[in-house]
Amino acid sequence: MLTSAKVKSHALHSGADLVGIASPDRFAELPARFNPLSAFPEAKSVVVLGFRLFRGLYRGIQAGTFYTMFSMMGYAGNKWVFQPVTLWKFCNLFEDAGYEASPIPDNFPWSNIDGVDADEMGQGFIDANPAFYGKDSSNYSRPVADDRPAPDIYFQMRLAAYCAGLGEIGDSGVFLTPEYGPRQMFAVVLTDAELDPDPIFPGGLCDHCGKCIEQCPGCAISPTEKTTVRIAGRELSWNALDFEKCSVAFHGGGEKACNPFMVSPQDEEGFNQQPYTAARAYKLGPVLWTGRAIGGMRGCHIACMAHLEERGVLKNKFKRHFGDCSC
Ligand code: SF4
Repeated sequence: MLTSAKVKSHALHSGADLVGIASPDRFAELPARFNPLSAFPEAKSVVVLGFRLFRGLYRGIQAGTFYTMFSMMGYAGNKWVFQPVTLWKFCNLFEDAGYEASPIPDNFPWSNIDGVDADEMGQGFIDANPAFYGKDSSNYSRPVADDRPAPDIYFQMRLAAYCAGLGEIGDSGVFLTPEYGPRQMFAVVLTDAELDPDPIFPGGLCDHCGKCIEQCPGCAISPTEKTTVRIAGRELSWNALDFEKCSVAFHGGGEKACNPFMVSPQDEEGFNQQPYTAARAYKLGPVLWTGRAIGGMRGCHIACMAHLEERGVLKNKFKRHFGDCSC
């Protein structure tokens, strides 16, 4: 018999650091195009796997000397290599027990999300700009039936992680867990195996300190405006994100940018282009892959991680204090 305990043990054995289980009813308040169950309406459980980002990956960015490590091992390596490999191992368990499993790594930029240039815009764009996609906003795709959303649907990993009881969404909009704070990414498995769901996390990690807002190099997080969604019978809210500012800062520009790769006037124009596009970046000259992590993990991630560690609320403890960015 396939039990929740067996599924969780196998998830950890396959390589995940965290695992939680949600029942489908927790997603019922979401529009169909945001609901993972639209991809597998017969699913009886949504299993969410968490993959830690090593704290040491932030060191090169903090030191202002080595940025590639985070881009490769923290971002691309996690989403595009380790998550799929782990999901392959994990999902065998379901098939061997006679159930289906639909594995979904955090790789939405690969998909055919309606109305979004998947090469330029990733998950964050869609998080912050729902009006830019969907059947009302483009001719990219059409519903195959009146009761279905147009392909591809999109859903937020952080909302799935919330429904699976793994943590909460902080004021920054970043998902926080009691194990690692903001340091993880998530993948989802939809299955027709009926498993016991985990309780919703009670909250209390985010104390509204405002450090993510203060330290964002792009001034992209509103100190006052909120984004609100209803899910799992609750109302969740976090501070509104200006995605265009976030995207520019993530790639190394922004109002408070400190970017050692911004050397020439041409670089300055490339890093600060509004909105940021990879194609223009190539033309304008900045180092694209390195640039992707220059600001992306400095503000909301490092500020929040350091703050939660100082408060002593995270389970993953370290002998050495993290400190502030040198740049
Ligand atoms: S930095 Fe402070 S306000 Fe921002 S998400 Fe973390 S705990 Fe919440």
